[in-house]
Amino acid sequence: MIHCRLCRSQHTQRSFTAPNNHGRIRIDNTQYNLYYCKNCTSYFLNLKTSSQYYQQAYQGSYYPSPSKFISFLNHISFILKRIHIETLLGFPNHIKILDIGCGPGEFLSHLPSQYSKHGLEINKKAARIASKRGIKMFTSDIQKSSLPANYYDCITLWHSLEHFDSPQTVLNKIYHSLRPGGLIIMNTPNSSSLGFRLGRQDYFHLDAPRHLYLPNPTSLKLALTGSGFHTIKSTPQIFEYPLDLFWSVRQHPWRAIIYLFYPFLKLFSSETITTTAFK
Ligand SMILES: [Zn+2]
Repeated sequence: MIHCRLCRSQHTQRSFTAPNNHGRIRIDNTQYNLYYCKNCTSYFLNLKTSSQYYQQAYQGSYYPSPSKFISFLNHISFILKRIHIETLLGFPNHIKILDIGCGPGEFLSHLPSQYSKHGLEINKKAARIASKRGIKMFTSDIQKSSLPANYYDCITLWHSLEHFDSPQTVLNKIYHSLRPGGLIIMNTPNSSSLGFRLGRQDYFHLDAPRHLYLPNPTSLKLALTGSGFHTIKSTPQIFEYPLDLFWSVRQHPWRAIIYLFYPFLKLFSSETITTTAFK
């Protein structure tokens, strides 16, 4: 019996297979089994560890540099993220923030000096760049190490939760490290999205074997509640990946209709979601 990667339930079943795609790009033809959990409704891969795939994925040449248009969208998205965080925390004068899976620290380096900026990144090359940008770095695996207790005002995970072997362990550690009233905010793929329902193995954010887990608002609420969080809210994230739905449905028989109404459907398809909760 295969246990769910998130809730450990045994009520799971094999659902479909997906190739090694990164976004719309085929990396190789290896096929991976996706399992569905009837308890928490998430999808997951039953792989022992992802660390080899991490290293493969973050060698630097693997992800191409973003185009000028994508850099512009990233810049807008950083501003919106900052406004979101400050609004939810009630506009304090000083914010202690930790970004988990921060890469070279692009998001943190966009924040002003009212933030104490900490980052966690296991790729040493990226961590060195972040360090040079003045960010205090942790470079060990959060699942095996400890963070300061009751310390941070805000902990962010911009598309990193889905890479962890044990997402519940990560959420437990984050809960421990946030101060009472502290905020967790994360962006993740969404297995309830239109692109996943129609595209399945072509879903832009499936990214097997690097994404070990495809959550949705229901499974994230269960997981966050399980770690002790409250006031949990998931909302569609519409400013990143403008063409994800386009690529997710590229083989679907209804794709012509979807492309005809693309901007409208993209607004409501929730390909990726932002989830917030408080300690
Ligand atoms: Zn589950």
